[in-house]
Amino acid sequence: MQTNKKILVTGGAGFIGSAMIRKIIQSSDHTVCNIDKLTYSGNLSSLTSVINSSKYTFEKVDIVDRKEIKRIFQKFRPEIVIHLAAESHVDRSIDGPSEFIKTNIVGTFNLLEEAKSYWISLDDSKKSSFRFLHVSTDEVFGDLKNKFGFFSEDSSYNPSSPYSASKASSDHLVRAWNRTFGLPILITNCSNNYGPYQFPEKLIPHMITNALQGKSLPIYGNGKQIRDWLYVDDHVNALLKVSLEGKIGETYNIGGDNEIENIEVVRMLCKILDDLIPIKKKSLNSYTDLISFVKDRPGHDQRYAIDCSKIKTKLGWKQLENFETGLRKTVNWYLNNTKWYEQIQDGSYRLERLGIYSQ
Ligand code: NAD
Repeated sequence: MQTNKKILVTGGAGFIGSAMIRKIIQSSDHTVCNIDKLTYSGNLSSLTSVINSSKYTFEKVDIVDRKEIKRIFQKFRPEIVIHLAAESHVDRSIDGPSEFIKTNIVGTFNLLEEAKSYWISLDDSKKSSFRFLHVSTDEVFGDLKNKFGFFSEDSSYNPSSPYSASKASSDHLVRAWNRTFGLPILITNCSNNYGPYQFPEKLIPHMITNALQGKSLPIYGNGKQIRDWLYVDDHVNALLKVSLEGKIGETYNIGGDNEIENIEVVRMLCKILDDLIPIKKKSLNSYTDLISFVKDRPGHDQRYAIDCSKIKTKLGWKQLENFETGLRKTVNWYLNNTKWYEQIQDGSYRLERLGIYSQ
C-alpha cells in the first residue's frame, strides 16, 4: 500500500466494512475512523482483533445525523472516505423500506454535503488527493432474463427492489456531486459477497447456521436464480485499489467471474458439511435432506452477472480466492465461531452493546 492515509469508513461494523478495517489495520500504516450506527447488522465483535490499535477509532454515529457527520469530518480530517454504511437486506426492504430511504439516500446525501464543505476548505494539495468512494451493488442494474450478457459500467439502471432502488438513487447522487460540484468521487458496483462475519440472514451464512442447528434450508422458488459470488477479502482488495488508484469520477464493476444457481450453492455447502461434520440426525443421510423450497420473493431477480474486465485491465486487480476454497474457509469459520452467530441469534450481542450483558 502507499503512504499513510487517514481513512473514514462508514458502516465499518458490518460484514464488508469490518473485513476492510481488519485488512487496513493489520497490513498497512493507514489510520481508520469507523462511523457506524450499530444497527441490527453492525457488530463490534467483528473488530476485536483491531479494537486496541492506536490506528483505529470508533464513533457511534448515524449518517442520517448531519451535525454528527460534520463533527467527524472536522475532528478526523479524512483523506479518503469509503462509504459502506447502508441497509442492505432485500427482504427487509420489502417488509419496511423507510429505513432504506433514510440511510441509503438521505445518509449518502448528508455525507456528500459534508464531504463537499470539508473538501472545499482544504488546501490545494490536500484537495487534489481527497477521494470519496461510494460502495454500491450490481443490483442497481436489475436482472438479466437469460443466461447471456453481463452488466458493464455502461449498463443502464433498472433496480427491482426497494433496496436496489435506494442504492441506485445514492449512486446517482454521488455522480451528480462530481459533475456539479467537482467532488472527487469513485463508485464501485459489486456482485454478491460471502465470507466470515456475514450476518446470518444472508444466503450462505443462513444455510450454514441452519444446517449446523439441524433446521430446514429454505430455498426461494425453484432455486434457479443465478448470482455471481465474490469472496469478501477480494472485494476489500478491490475497494482499496479503487480508492487509492482509481480515476476520479469513474465507476468500476467488481465481480467474482463465478456464476452459480442458488440451489447449487446450497448443495455445495451441504457437501462440505457432510465431509466436515457428518449429520447426526438418524432420519437423514445428508444435509441436502434439509433443503426445502418456499414461495419465491416478490420481484426476485433471475440473474446477475458482472463484467469486471475494467478494474482488471485498468487497475490490475484480480480475484485471489476460488469459490470451492472460499466456501470451505467460510464454513470452517462458522464452525469455529459458533459464539459469534449464536449471540446474534439469541440477541445477546445487542445487550452486550448496551452494557447489560456479561459472560
Ligand atoms: P451490512 O448490513 O453487513 O453492514 C452495514 C453496516 O452499516 C452495519 O454495520 C450497520 O450498523 C451500518 N449502518 C446501517 N445504517 C447506518 C446508518 N444510518 N448510519 C451509520 N451506520 C449504519 O452490509 P454489508 O454486506 O457489509 O454491505 C456494505 C455495503 O456494501 C453496502 O453499502 C452494500 O450495499 C454494499 N454491497 C454489499 C454486497 C454484499 O454482498 N454484501 C455486495 C455489493 C455491495
